[in-house]
Amino acid sequence: MVDIRKVTVLGAGVLGSQIAYQSAFKGFEVTSYDVSEDALAAARDRFTKLAETYTREVPGADSSSVTAGIDRITLTSDLAAAVTDADLVIEAVPEILDLKREIYTKIGELAPESAIFATNSSTLLPSDLKDFTGRPERFLALHFANKVWQFNTAEVMGTADTDPAVYSAVVGFANDIGMVPIELHKEKAGYVLNSLLVPFLNAAVDLVAGGYADPEAVDRTWMVATGAPIGPCRIFDIIGFTTPYNIMSHGDAHAQELAAWLKENYIDKGKLGLASGEGFYRYPEDPSGD
Ligand code: NAD
Repeated sequence: MVDIRKVTVLGAGVLGSQIAYQSAFKGFEVTSYDVSEDALAAARDRFTKLAETYTREVPGADSSSVTAGIDRITLTSDLAAAVTDADLVIEAVPEILDLKREIYTKIGELAPESAIFATNSSTLLPSDLKDFTGRPERFLALHFANKVWQFNTAEVMGTADTDPAVYSAVVGFANDIGMVPIELHKEKAGYVLNSLLVPFLNAAVDLVAGGYADPEAVDRTWMVATGAPIGPCRIFDIIGFTTPYNIMSHGDAHAQELAAWLKENYIDKGKLGLASGEGFYRYPEDPSGD
């Protein structure tokens, strides 16, 4: 029987703060670890902002439930204290292989043997890290998507060593914190979501960059033909141009050409998507137009 009650989240940046807050909001006792007092101050700020966002955007959230969420989070920059009685440690530190290996080596010694470790890495496979955890059978990936409070997925992906009981417990935990667990049967770079999304977005940029169709036409085609509420160019704007650009820059020769086109026509002009006020579309939009 694998019981998850106490959750520790390593890294309180964009995703780590969201995972910690969502878990606490759903009733778990959470420890949020980051490296310095400055980082913890930034984390406190993020939690306060998340509480405001939940009040506005999460059905049923009110001032007492969002405050209770904050109250269930303990912040610390002491790694040993952070993991000492954790049932589940979710790692959301920067996407740097050596940094992640270093932190797993440390917590492998500091955490109880029973603790499960899960990485939120978007681009690394759990196999890249498992040998540093001291517990490959209790290690897997639990991958969240940005804005965890919205109806959202948590992709669960183990290695060949992951104990099926641990895998099931983590699927159960994802459910308990209101995610839609997506179970992968074996390791796959990009999980399900990015395996679909990356080629999809590349194809949309290819159509626009090649002069075949405007962003509006690309999106309209997808929406009318499949019933989807938005199209790929709109998704691009919402994600922001930087991450897709970085992924394309590391792709094949054609992907690199598309990355160069994005840089010249959008990124260098400060058009980074919705957050910057303009991407494939301009924001705010004229409510009379489409
Ligand atoms: P981020 O840069 O916003 O946050 C990283 C945090 O880790 C920072 O607060 C930093 O102070 C802290 N940190 C640095 N070194 C550390 C250490 N040694 N120990 C503990 N904490 C340390 O990064 P992020 O966007 O939250 O990404 C974190 C992980 O989540 C990455 O693996 C990334 O692939 C994954 N992820 C990110 C997104 C996203 O949309 N940003 C989505 C899914 C998954």
